[in-house]
Amino acid sequence: MTDTPAAARRDQAVRAAVEQGLVGPDAPLAALLDVTGIRLGAAALTSAFAAVTDAPVLHAFAVKACPLVPVLRLLADEGLGAEVASPGELALARAAGIGPDRTVLDSPAKTPAELREALALGIAVNADNPQELARLDALVASAATASPLGLRINPQLGAGSIGALSTATRTSKFGVGLRDEGAREWIVEAYAARPWLTRLHTHAGSQGVPLALMAEGVRAAYELAEEVNARVGRRQIDTVDLGGGLPVNFASDEESPTYEEYARLLLAQVPGLFDGSYALVTEFGRSLLAKHGTVLARVEYAKTSGGRPIAVTHAGVQIAARTVYAPASWPLRIAAYGPKGRPKPGPPVLQDVAGPACFAGDLLAEARLLPRLEQGDYAAVLDTGAYYFAHHYAYNSLARPGVYGFTASTSGVRFAVVRPPQALAEIVAESGGATPDSLL
Ligand SMILES: *Cc1c(COP(=O)(O)O)cnc(C)c1O
Repeated sequence: MTDTPAAARRDQAVRAAVEQGLVGPDAPLAALLDVTGIRLGAAALTSAFAAVTDAPVLHAFAVKACPLVPVLRLLADEGLGAEVASPGELALARAAGIGPDRTVLDSPAKTPAELREALALGIAVNADNPQELARLDALVASAATASPLGLRINPQLGAGSIGALSTATRTSKFGVGLRDEGAREWIVEAYAARPWLTRLHTHAGSQGVPLALMAEGVRAAYELAEEVNARVGRRQIDTVDLGGGLPVNFASDEESPTYEEYARLLLAQVPGLFDGSYALVTEFGRSLLAKHGTVLARVEYAKTSGGRPIAVTHAGVQIAARTVYAPASWPLRIAAYGPKGRPKPGPPVLQDVAGPACFAGDLLAEARLLPRLEQGDYAAVLDTGAYYFAHHYAYNSLARPGVYGFTASTSGVRFAVVRPPQALAEIVAESGGATPDSLL
């Protein structure tokens, strides 16, 4: 496992983080991002689609997966745009310098003000439902806009293995249900009545959804686009947005499935979508970042309880809410490192890896086989680059950890601050510290 390049880079970075004092007795928690890995992943995405089509493709990174401005900027440097789903995410994309022509706004609950701003900026918008489409009607009638506009459909194909992340069930809250009675006819006529509605969007995948089901969702969108264009007698829909949702392998360092596999499967299942008649948009999030992030947590204490060894670390629910609250759906790998940041040798021992929060369930791993963690060792929580440390959960007023990008070369490992650790003064300020008397 540790002989793959990504794992070797990680080992180098962990050791350097200890040697350079990024982590230590007084800095017990840090998050690391593998800049090389992120660049390679983005390049793999771009080349996977370039290999199956000559059509223009905008790969809009789903900001939700890692809402950190330098990360968005890095991905933009690799040619990616941004998919945003809230005013905050749009502000982050703009702060990263991502232009309106490379930004897509999806969200199930856009306010009139958000829609107005998006259309004024010229950002692509995918309407979620008939009521939102009616709001767009009014906005389009009142002022010219450069925004490409589309409609999100839900192909209603069924669930994957994680209910909370299954976007394409019959009753999912997203988009217009394509198989609901009368929906298909309604959609076709909605396009026919709106010559400016030129995009069609679906996002049917997510962690736990098999590739074949994702491809079926894309095929459903393609067939609908063809039907609309046949009905109106011109190629009104000129862009299909395939969404994101490529699942990530959390069980080993292997990157699987790959973008190449997915692009080839799509080409085989939906060849017409790649013949150049449509421009394409993708919205991958997790698959671009997950495997390139590592949380490094110092073991504060090593104890036993009821015969079970427990390593009490500084990484718990605040950086891994999903894993702590739904451990069966979201298991994370943990790697053991010694006090000098070197991979820890020794026979594997069943142990719990606990976090710092004050509730019994704050465990990153239960009964996990690892070299026995001791006081002063480090537990590395792997594959946490998406939806983990960038998604802080403020339980116990635990501070957001610093996030550092690393690049390794023969001359050593260089760290760059992506986000500094949260200061106590910030916690106080964000907790009403400026208005202590407001309830008196
Ligand atoms: C969350 C989301 C994505 C990204 O999903 P990943 O599973 O992170 O790839 C893309 N598009 C939409 C509309 C989303 O809601």
